[in-house]
Amino acid sequence: MAKKRAFTLIELLVVVSIIALLVSILLPALGKARQSAKKAVCASQLHQTTQACTAYAIALNNDKLPQGTMGTSSSNTPGWSQTNYIMDIAFNGIAKYLEDTRVMSCINTEKWYAYDSEYIDGRPFIPSWCLAVNWPAYIFGYNYLGGHFAKQWPDPVDPEAVKWDSPSKLSDPGYLPLMVDIISQSTYYTKTSIAHGSRGDFISTNYIDSPGEQDIQVGGNVGLLDGSVHWKNISEMEKHNILNQFGDITSRDLFGWW
Ligand SMILES: [Zn+2]
Repeated sequence: MAKKRAFTLIELLVVVSIIALLVSILLPALGKARQSAKKAVCASQLHQTTQACTAYAIALNNDKLPQGTMGTSSSNTPGWSQTNYIMDIAFNGIAKYLEDTRVMSCINTEKWYAYDSEYIDGRPFIPSWCLAVNWPAYIFGYNYLGGHFAKQWPDPVDPEAVKWDSPSKLSDPGYLPLMVDIISQSTYYTKTSIAHGSRGDFISTNYIDSPGEQDIQVGGNVGLLDGSVHWKNISEMEKHNILNQFGDITSRDLFGWW
């Protein structure tokens, strides 16, 4: 007669260790899957928004892309333009072609705004200081590179540095970047910001270093004028001067990667 058999301690330990091993194999894979999903959502949002900019240019504005600068006389100086702000008239024009205006910001940059006392529910938003100085402009969770006055955006510190072209109309070359994930560094604020950081989330650190160049996961999506969107690791990106508002004109206060 067969004896009813129970698990031995050894068998139980083997089962437990196999489960632990499986978990340790699967968890990083799940984390990577989440990062990949976020990149894909971001790319889809960038595609929708660049297409909305194109629709705006065709229907409303004589092929001219939405204006991405502050729109005062001083914005004729490239240093006074900002790439993560867009004029409210342009924002409203683009919004007509989007079902949900929240796609205008990378899903990972929500947390960034939550750090800000001017954060309001929903994205993007008009910062109170913009209203105070009567420059109604929306802040994006992306850098918007279209429609700036300066076609060739110079670097005031290093004239030999890579310049970037701001596309101003639809007939400009389709390979020009139109909207890109925010990856920037400010010596004034001593802050580094990366939309897709090493753990897949937005990173904003209080010190300057060379962010994640060893980490292949760190980078951002780059949306081109032709509507295509390309993921780039930070090691493949170039630094561009995108703002020179702070300090004197020779300082290199905020620059973006794409
Ligand atoms: Zn993104």
